Amino acid sequence: MVTLSNGGDGFSAVPPRRKRGPLRALLPWVVLTLSLIASCNIRVREARTGGEYPSWLPGAEIEMPEYVREDFLTKNPYSRPGTYLRKIDGVVIHYVGNPGSTANANRNYFEGLADGQNGTYASSHFIVGLQGEALQCVPLTEIAYASNNRNADTISIEVCHPDKGGQFNDMTYQRVAELTGWLCWKFALDPQEDVIRHYDVTGKLCPLYYVEHPDAWEALKGDIAAVKARLTAEAAET
Ligand SMILES: [Zn+2]
Repeated sequence: MVTLSNGGDGFSAVPPRRKRGPLRALLPWVVLTLSLIASCNIRVREARTGGEYPSWLPGAEIEMPEYVREDFLTKNPYSRPGTYLRKIDGVVIHYVGNPGSTANANRNYFEGLADGQNGTYASSHFIVGLQGEALQCVPLTEIAYASNNRNADTISIEVCHPDKGGQFNDMTYQRVAELTGWLCWKFALDPQEDVIRHYDVTGKLCPLYYVEHPDAWEALKGDIAAVKARLTAEAAET
């Protein structure tokens, strides 16, 4: 016969477990939850960038406007070296210099440089075509070979034109203004200071018409500024 000495309810023969404080009891759950959240975040980020680019690059995790058609060049030393674009301090406007050529033809020209046979290094982040189409050839996380010593901190836009004078047609002009305005808004650039011509980098007559007609260049920058102002106002409303 077993006699319980303390005459209680009989269960007290088992020594009472030391009670853990409520916070201590929760700790493993807190750690588990935090680590789950962290791993989900990493997975989401990797999905957005393809896991290819660190998120601190200014051009990483940027959602492009719907009118931009992505058609990236194959990575190669001549037109898409894959070098990180670590800063985005400006936008450089160019003209293709090949009257009547399409955005797609110019994109294929860059792609064709990949074999290195003619030793040319050239590309552009965007090409705006004669119908106002906007092709993206290089991600905003990588440099393009367009603007000489400003390749490392600018986004480049090559623009198609109907004749050798180099003036943009209406559809092309509107798209250049829209896309450049969007870039200024997205990367907090000043349309007056940070949007430049290739001419402003090297003195090359590019984009020809807007070098020969400074008024037209100023007007284009004004239209770019108006787009930035509109996008800023729209973002403030939502
Ligand atoms: Zn140029």
